[in-house]
Amino acid sequence: MIGPKPHISEQPITIRNWHRHVDWFNTTFIIIVPLCGCIAAIFTPLRWPTVIWAVLYYFWTGLGVTAGYHRLWSHRTYEAGLSLRIFLACAGSGAVEGSIRWWSIKHRAHHRWTDTEKDPYNTRQGLLHSHLLWMILKPNPKNNARTDISDLNADPVVMWQHRNYTKLAIGFGLVLPTVMAGVGWGDWKGGLVIAGILRMFLFQQATFCVNSLAHWLGDQPFDDRNSPRDHILTALVTFGEGYHNFHHEFPSDYRNGIEWWQYDPTKWAIWICARFRLASNLKRFRTNEIEMGRVQQLQKRLDHRAASLGR
Ligand SMILES: [Zn+2]
Ligand SMILES: [Zn+2]
Repeated sequence: MIGPKPHISEQPITIRNWHRHVDWFNTTFIIIVPLCGCIAAIFTPLRWPTVIWAVLYYFWTGLGVTAGYHRLWSHRTYEAGLSLRIFLACAGSGAVEGSIRWWSIKHRAHHRWTDTEKDPYNTRQGLLHSHLLWMILKPNPKNNARTDISDLNADPVVMWQHRNYTKLAIGFGLVLPTVMAGVGWGDWKGGLVIAGILRMFLFQQATFCVNSLAHWLGDQPFDDRNSPRDHILTALVTFGEGYHNFHHEFPSDYRNGIEWWQYDPTKWAIWICARFRLASNLKRFRTNEIEMGRVQQLQKRLDHRAASLGR
């Protein structure tokens, strides 16, 4: 008896079928376009106004992902009014990392099923898988995790951005940075290549590092049962998202860096929005609860050390 044909992800990759394994939509935006941009950059003279614009736009679109996609929509760490939600949805589209809805579904599954087969960027499948391959190769639908997204489906901004994602990604990811540099100081090519494609490519890679490197590199002051780690390097390139051990332990806290000296511009941006009444109900775990988590982890380490000396 012949059973149902196995899904492509269950078939070995061969010369004949490799193109069917590839998710071409993701591959276009995170591999092919960035690769073309890197080649074009060699032939694009650098102009200072374009470089400054690219850095500013990196922050703008990046905050769309960190303050919007991640801390607002994936974790509901605060509430945002309509104007801020529209701003974050448009800014986040410019980072070209998928729609809010798609991104948040994957991210909620990652938190719920960390380091298991149902974790879309499961660290145990290797650094390259958690960094890139999970988006490049079609996943096995058997591993699809169930997550509650009724709140996302009920948010008209999320649904509008999801339906119009391709147009918004091209508009805010490529067209806006090009037009700004072209109309502003006549650098159309630099606008497209530097402020558009290279800026998008660098922030994509920085965010992907939170899925890969932040589960490999750094300290585990709160919990060492799973892979997430705190590291200043991943925090620096992603506006504070690198304090990942804390974040996995306290995901509904609007902060990732809890100390005043930790680099967490996303937290500062949300706090400033709250001062201007654009955001409200910023959630924080109580300091003694957080300290208790730190002390328990320290105690666990001490117990292990004592046990090893007693042998
Ligand atoms: Zn993680
Ligand atoms: Zn998260």
